[in-house]
Amino acid sequence: MKERKKRKIKKRKLILGFLLVLSLLSLDQFFETNEGESTSKGSVRNGSIENAWLVPWSGDNWGYFSVMSYFIIDNAYIHSTVYKIILEAYKTCETTCPDTYFRLMECGNTRGGKMLLRRTHQNGYGVDFMIPKKNKDGSQNQFLDRIGMLHYLLEFTPTEKNTIFSSIELDFEIMARHILALDDAAKANGLEIHKIILRTELLPLFYSTPSGQKVQERGIYFMPRLYPLANKVHDDHYHVDFERRKQKLKMNRR
Ligand SMILES: [Zn+2]
Repeated sequence: MKERKKRKIKKRKLILGFLLVLSLLSLDQFFETNEGESTSKGSVRNGSIENAWLVPWSGDNWGYFSVMSYFIIDNAYIHSTVYKIILEAYKTCETTCPDTYFRLMECGNTRGGKMLLRRTHQNGYGVDFMIPKKNKDGSQNQFLDRIGMLHYLLEFTPTEKNTIFSSIELDFEIMARHILALDDAAKANGLEIHKIILRTELLPLFYSTPSGQKVQERGIYFMPRLYPLANKVHDDHYHVDFERRKQKLKMNRR
């Protein structure tokens, strides 16, 4: 009996210790203030950021996707202008996609630089967004949206169906409406979308939706070819890189 009691106390101490470590690791997020402007250095592949802003944990129609990513490995930091763009776009989506709850995925480290399992996201201008999902009747399905970082392991067929739950499909119309909102918000804040990464086999389906056609008409650039691994993983989320509008104008003049 005594042995059992001792084991129980030991177990409780372990859980308390774990919770304490967790709280200490999350302190940054609780005291983050988001003041001033961020300064990006270098590129998305080889860069850093000063005074990055922490995105909120959630908004009215969206939420961050992972406790681990947000609180433990500090991956929810972004350039202050991109922060505004993300929030303004979700605000627009309250009107253009009133029945959808969105999920924001990985942003970047507190000071940018290399991230776990990633080559980009280094200067605060790159963000991942979860592709919304739908049932066969067109209503939103959030069943697979709550599995945190395991979401990256989900597989979808080139016909947009989940390989395990074939009744769950990717919702490209809603994804496209979100991209249109991002494009508008970026331009209103002096940036623009530099490129989007989505699994290339899914592009024809994306462009076949009414809003996907508008994205195409606007000339928003999707990477037409990707390394096999990068292509494989971008079937559950889309990566968006922003850049300053002026820089692109200069590049076009060359
Ligand atoms: Zn990404």
